[in-house]
Amino acid sequence: MNGMPGMNGGSAADDIDLYDILKVDKSASKAEIKKAYHKAALANHPDKVPEDQREAAEARFKSASQAYEILSDDQKRGLYDAHGMAAFEGGGPGMGAGVNMEDILGGLFGMNMGGMGGMGGGRGQRPKRSPDENQKYEVSLEDLYKGKTVRFSSTKNVLCSKCSGSGAKEGVQPRECSTCKGQGVRQVVQQVGPGMLTQRLVECSACEGTGKVVNPKDKCKKCKGKRTTEEKKQLELYIPRGAKEGDKIVLEGEADQIPGAEQTGDIIFHLVEQPHDIFNRAGPDLQATLEVTLAEALCGFSRTVITHLDGRGISLTHPQVEGEIMRPGQVIKVKGEGMPYKKSDAKGDLYLIVDIQFPEDGFFNEDTAAALRKLLPQPEPPIKTDVVDEATWEDADPEEFGKGDPRGGGQWEDEEEEKRMMHKEVDWVRSIERRSTAQVGGKVICRN
Ligand SMILES: [Zn+2]
Ligand SMILES: [Zn+2]
Repeated sequence: MNGMPGMNGGSAADDIDLYDILKVDKSASKAEIKKAYHKAALANHPDKVPEDQREAAEARFKSASQAYEILSDDQKRGLYDAHGMAAFEGGGPGMGAGVNMEDILGGLFGMNMGGMGGMGGGRGQRPKRSPDENQKYEVSLEDLYKGKTVRFSSTKNVLCSKCSGSGAKEGVQPRECSTCKGQGVRQVVQQVGPGMLTQRLVECSACEGTGKVVNPKDKCKKCKGKRTTEEKKQLELYIPRGAKEGDKIVLEGEADQIPGAEQTGDIIFHLVEQPHDIFNRAGPDLQATLEVTLAEALCGFSRTVITHLDGRGISLTHPQVEGEIMRPGQVIKVKGEGMPYKKSDAKGDLYLIVDIQFPEDGFFNEDTAAALRKLLPQPEPPIKTDVVDEATWEDADPEEFGKGDPRGGGQWEDEEEEKRMMHKEVDWVRSIERRSTAQVGGKVICRN
């Protein structure tokens, strides 16, 4: 019913797609809905548009607010998902308020009963297009990096080939449904407010909305009067390289066919990115841990440091400038070794966070320790204070730091630091910031 002439927004309450109004997915999170609402509210705020567009903007502003009112409330959203706007008729959240009843009764029914065939999409009517099928599809980071074609067989309902979806034997014409007089829909009367009645259209159950019925003895042998049969079909799902979580891949017209629907809906795959053992992904960039030994950090190396998502080894040479030393928590960037951009040869960057593997306890004996002490920088001159306390120490869990602080301190400072680390442009140069290896955390890297 969308875009039907002569109808105003309120009277078409049944067909309002709140997700469409906010331009979000049906699976959108609360945060995404809030963001979309703010965006819509800002763009259509009546104070922010030229005079001549004010009325239209005001209407958009109102519908965005109404959509947000429902979608931001779990209970209302659940009702809406299950029943559409019908759930809110009569004392709902302001939809349809102030609508002229004559418009509804005259406009809606006058038009509907005449030309049902060409309309559709709305609840309770003969659908013009069968519904889309939404599915999640989990993909590994490797497959998102390289791209992948998945072939699978799917069972779908198709219109019966023997009776072309009529459900009747050859030579028998289905007769008009007496319950709905062939319309496929019935009117039901509903109270929308005190003393106000409206009529709604619901699908006729006697003929399943097709408007036609077939006598039991005249039913098609192949589909047994069901009008559709199951068909196995080979489908191909193409995941382009560089695709990401939330991307939609649409197989057009591959959903189930429904008698009376002139078009067939799509199968829509929503990509879900599986977590990876080695790489973290943020958009086009990848992040991993670079583990080096203490000797390598101090004296350098030239070797394959990581196996990339396509199986290639990535080799690095350190130092790049004579005498350069690698430090724990240092972040280095390997340009062009991130994720590919879709439909492009360009790639993001690979950020490596240095983790230094120190020797095991007891690795050095007295002699080697003495030799090392001579080789390494000498300590600073002793600190001079009036009083010196001999203290003991133990290993600590960094998480415990600040636990006794009633403000719940500590935590946000870490986050700030993390952000600084990620945004810093470090191109194979030493990062001045230092992070403890504890913050870098449990990533393992493949070493060849
Ligand atoms: Zn009927
Ligand atoms: Zn059939």
